Amino acid sequence: MDTGLTRTITAGTLIFQQGAPGDCAYIIQNGEVELSMLINGTPSVFATLEKGELFGEMALIDNDFRSATAIAKTDVELLIISRDYIAQKIELSNPTVRMLLQVVLERYRDIYARLHDVSESLKEHESDSSNSTISSFFSQYLKLSSKLATAITHRQVSSHAADYINKDLESTSDSITKENNLKNALDNNEFELYYQPIVNMPQGTIAGCEALIRWNSPTLGFTPPDQFISLAEKTGLIIPLGKWITEQACFAAHEFRKHQNIYMSINLSAVQFESESFMADIENAVKNADIDNDCIKLEITESILMTNPELAEISLNKLKAAGFSIAIDDFGTGYSSFSYLHRFPIDTLKIDQSFVNAMFSNERSMEIVRTISLLAKNLNMKVIAEGIEEKNESVQLDEFGCDYGQGYVYSRPVPFGEFLGLLKHNSLPVA
Ligand code: C2E
Ligand code: CA
Ligand code: CA
Repeated sequence: MDTGLTRTITAGTLIFQQGAPGDCAYIIQNGEVELSMLINGTPSVFATLEKGELFGEMALIDNDFRSATAIAKTDVELLIISRDYIAQKIELSNPTVRMLLQVVLERYRDIYARLHDVSESLKEHESDSSNSTISSFFSQYLKLSSKLATAITHRQVSSHAADYINKDLESTSDSITKENNLKNALDNNEFELYYQPIVNMPQGTIAGCEALIRWNSPTLGFTPPDQFISLAEKTGLIIPLGKWITEQACFAAHEFRKHQNIYMSINLSAVQFESESFMADIENAVKNADIDNDCIKLEITESILMTNPELAEISLNKLKAAGFSIAIDDFGTGYSSFSYLHRFPIDTLKIDQSFVNAMFSNERSMEIVRTISLLAKNLNMKVIAEGIEEKNESVQLDEFGCDYGQGYVYSRPVPFGEFLGLLKHNSLPVA
């Protein structure tokens, strides 16, 4: 059975033919595959591959023909690595590594071409079997080509190199599976937004909430965003996923605001922020949910601003003009440059939880928190302290003039229904 990611093939079936163009590589999940090559017009088996081994990758890396024929020796289950997947990984890789890969592959193909030429010329002299020099040369050639082919299947590489190859194959296999699961997750409704209250510190009431994504993966279980957001960014999935997050968060805001006039904070990733569709996506989401732009706060990191400040300035000015609020997430952990604080239209600074956690164990952290609160006040910005877990932290932050607080001391992020319950009863789990 083929699932798009895996292919099951019965024993004896041809997987690909030498000389054919290749559109994917494979990792064996189960079973055995036999690789053969035409030597002197006769197929010669040079390797049997087992579970965990990779084959068919060369034609994908350099867009050339299949250098061998692959046949299922037993019933096999194969994990498919598509041409697009490889192309994307090569594109993203370091240019030096990319160049080395090409050089190694060209040399490898060159050896094959030479061996093929020798084989052809030997064929011409085959009738002259009395020529012992040629005969011994031919046998040398067969040995060499077999050795080379075997080495290529990693069987004769040093055990040190084999360890690396095996580890790489394992992580490739894992990341292809995870990536494919992630791609299907959106269609399969496996994502869910949780909402964490953002509390007005002096009043102790809910002023807003932050939408935080969760992945209920049937294979990986309940997965936090740290384990898939960067993969979603690398693969481009963050664009449709980010659109989905924005739509869900806006609909939730509409529901929440039926009970209390709170705002919704949405996290933006760099890839999403720089995408062409982003502005239209967010405006449509807000319009479709029938809420006003000014109840949406967009959380971006300092690195988004500093990677491409010109683009960031244009985008942020547009968002600001449309009425959205802008918060700097994890403030203090990135560049924290004063230049961007006056250059960009920022409304809110979110003090990173690492400073809040360390306030009572490290005097400098306490001072950093106090200084950021003061800075925000002087710049006419709001400040939110994140990751507040202890009562004494919230008391201290309130004394520093910190406007808002967020953390387990008030509530963990909770599903939609539970958050609605907090608003209906106008209460926080921990007062
Ligand atoms: P973040 O934006 O800094 O979100 C705050 C994180 O701190 C959340 O982790 C939250 O659950 C956690 N947290 C809140 N209060 C406390 C506390 O008192 N103690 C501790 N130890 N942690 C607390 P989470 O939900 O696992 O999210 C991790 C990161 O993943 C987020 O960091 C954000 O960068 C990213 N992320 C989450 N949701 C989204 C999303 O919808 N879109 C994008 N692009 N990124 C997201
Ligand atoms: Ca955030
Ligand atoms: Ca944060």
